[in-house]
Order: sequence, then structure tokens, then C-alpha cells
Amino acid sequence: MKSEEMKDAVAGDPQENESEAAGVSRRAFVGAATLAGVGLVSMNAGAQTVKEALAGRANGSDSNPGQENQPLLEENPSSNMPPPTDRGDVGAIWYSFDLAHKRLQSGGWTHEVTQRVLPSSKEIAGVNMRLTAGSFRELHWHTADEWAFMITGKARITLLQPDGKMFVDDVGPGDLWYFPAGFPHSIQGLEGPGCEFLLVFDQGDFSEDDTFLLSDWLAHTPPEVLMKNMGWSKAEIEKLPPTPLYIFNAPLPKSLDADKQSIGQYLETKNVYTFKASTMQPTKTTAGGEVHVVDSTNFPVAKNVAMAKVRVKPGGIREMHWHPTGTEWQFYIKGKGRMTVFNTASRARTMDFNANDVGFVPSMAGHYIENTGKEDLVFLEMFKTSKYLDVSLNDWIARMPPEMAEAHLKLTAAAIAKVPQEKYENLPK
Ligand code: MN
Ligand code: MN
Repeated sequence: MKSEEMKDAVAGDPQENESEAAGVSRRAFVGAATLAGVGLVSMNAGAQTVKEALAGRANGSDSNPGQENQPLLEENPSSNMPPPTDRGDVGAIWYSFDLAHKRLQSGGWTHEVTQRVLPSSKEIAGVNMRLTAGSFRELHWHTADEWAFMITGKARITLLQPDGKMFVDDVGPGDLWYFPAGFPHSIQGLEGPGCEFLLVFDQGDFSEDDTFLLSDWLAHTPPEVLMKNMGWSKAEIEKLPPTPLYIFNAPLPKSLDADKQSIGQYLETKNVYTFKASTMQPTKTTAGGEVHVVDSTNFPVAKNVAMAKVRVKPGGIREMHWHPTGTEWQFYIKGKGRMTVFNTASRARTMDFNANDVGFVPSMAGHYIENTGKEDLVFLEMFKTSKYLDVSLNDWIARMPPEMAEAHLKLTAAAIAKVPQEKYENLPK
């Protein structure tokens, strides 16, 4: 919207008077925020009003003669100088894996974006991990469900069910897996350059440093108990790893068929813990892009985590919408995007997103994601839910009785009829 149009749009807006009255306390709050860590991403256009922001831009009050972190500014223009429509505090909605320090071992690395750095995200935490060819993420289990998206390369995963059946499968780029809480599992990088993947856990405060490791348990059990429990000799127990392995090098495994044969009668064949999303047809394709939705309806073991993988073409937009299921945790894979989160009480926050960034949307809050780059924008929308749901603002406007829409929007029926009927991604007409 151009400045002139914006002025027309807000002329006589009672919100302006209300917000000026409330301005003092909001300004005090903003002044108390810090620029470190959380403060940086939850700080925002506190008591800004559209009128004041436009006036400031018009008379050059937006100049900044002092210091700047130029690369950060270039990546986050909407965060530094928000659109005039931004206002109030929606909480933290951005973090990047490129700020999360890596735990590096011989065999790969891991780093995480959890509630510790993105405090709004109470339902979901994310981990990004790399394993070189043959290397293992050690046999382990944990208190959260684990959902995974393969970013590059191939991996072999195994899982043991409580009934003693063992599942094994290989996954490639774009494929998924799902490990229910408490089910022990492993991940091994396969031939070539190994692999990299995103893990999503259904607990915001989950940490990859808080998992039950095979080596750790054995190292903290009296040797005489291990002798009784496993039937191993004292000499054999002395060969066990004295410290946790976590990530470590190993030779490449045998073929998948050979592993299945060695599991024999204990091979799990009913429950499938992998989903070959790489070969799935889009759930919906529109002029502006496509979406793949995977939840418990097409991936039955994924009971607590659902995904929409969204591709938006240059110039396109993931339309204005919200989710009745709760909060949304996003992972940006490719391209550049801009999102505004709209929350209750006139709060709105706009930020820019690049590959390897994490986005967050508070429960039920309205949002869109615009492709602001020259290539396709690809990102994941993740939810702690069994069934993916979203509500389209355009559906709502277009399907209510026309008189109702006219009364609310002060538009003619002809203007209301322009609203696109294609759900998900739109390109400008
Ligand atoms: Mn795990
Ligand atoms: Mn969404």
C-alpha cells in the first residue's frame, strides 16, 4: 500500500485515538526490553500508530546516523523498520539455526532451536542434524514424539516397538519418519556424502542433549547387574564404551534387504514409521504454488505432529489464514519470505525469513507468507496435532452472504467477488 492510500485507509480510524491513549504504558514496556537474545526478536513496534509512522517516514525521522549491523539489516528489513501497520507485541516469532551453536563430533553435528531461544514455542522444538556416510546417531529414546524431514542424502532408520518387533527402512531427500515417545531408535547416514535432516519434537522445551542413550545406561549400571541381565562376562563388559557415543563413525551397513533378513520373524510389517513424501503428489496445486499435507490421515503413526510443505512461486503469497489446531512452527528450506503475524488487541508483527530460519505463529493468530525473492520459497508449517487444519480468510469473505460482507467491509458486491477462490497460494491477478 502506498503512503497516500494508507492515509486514506486510516482516516478517522478510532484505533488511532485509542492507541495514543494507551501509548504511555506501551512505551514504558518497550523501553524496558533489551536487545540481547529474546529481546531482539520480541521487541517491536510497541506503541507505533499508522499515522505517526507515516509522518515519521515523510519527514525523514526514520534516518539512522548511528551504528548499524548492515548484513543483519539487509536480511531483516521488515524487522528493523516495520510497516506502518505493525503494532504491539506478539512475542518472539523468529530465530535461525544459523545462530544455534553446533555440537560437533567425528561423524557429524547437531544443533537445536527450542523454547530456550524461541520462548513462544511451547508445543514444538526443532533439531537440525548431519551424519556423514556410515555414521550413527546412537541408539536412544526420549520423552517427546520425533517427526523428521530428510533435507539431503540418505539414511537408514530402525525402531523397536514395545511388542518386540523391529522396523527398518531407508529414507531419501523429502522423505519423513515418525518415532513415538519412548520407542527406541537409531539413524545412520548412508553412502555418498551422508545426510542432513530436520527433527521436530512435540515438546517446546525438548533438547537433543536430554535423551536416553544406550551407552550411557550401560556405563551407569553396576557390572554385576549387566552380567546377570545380559549374560556377558566381566571381560566383555570392560569393552563397553565408558562415555556416551551420541554421534560416531561406523562402517556402512549391509543392504536394507540383508538387514530385514537378519531381523527375520521379528520384522515389523504392519506399522510403517516412514513416509515417502518425495513421491507424493501435491495435496493442492494452484497458480501461485503447491502444498503437500502429511498428517495422521495419510501417515497413520504420526499421531501428534502434522506438516504442510509449502512452495510459493516468486511474486506469490501463501494466503491470509490461521489454524484452529494451535501454534505453528515453521522451517524455511529455500528462498526468501515475509510474514506478518496478526494477534488480538491490534497487535501485528512483520519479519523476514531466509533459508535455515525458524518462524513461529501464536495459537490461532492470522498470518500470510509472501515470497519476496526471485526463486521459489519453500518452507514447512509444523503443528502439534493429528489432523492438519487451516481457515482461509478469503473463503470466509467470499462465502458469507454478500450483504453481510458488504456491511462489514464497506465494499460493493463486485469488489467482494474479486476475492480468489483458490485456497493456499495466490499470484497477483
Ligand atoms: Mn530421537
Ligand atoms: Mn500457517
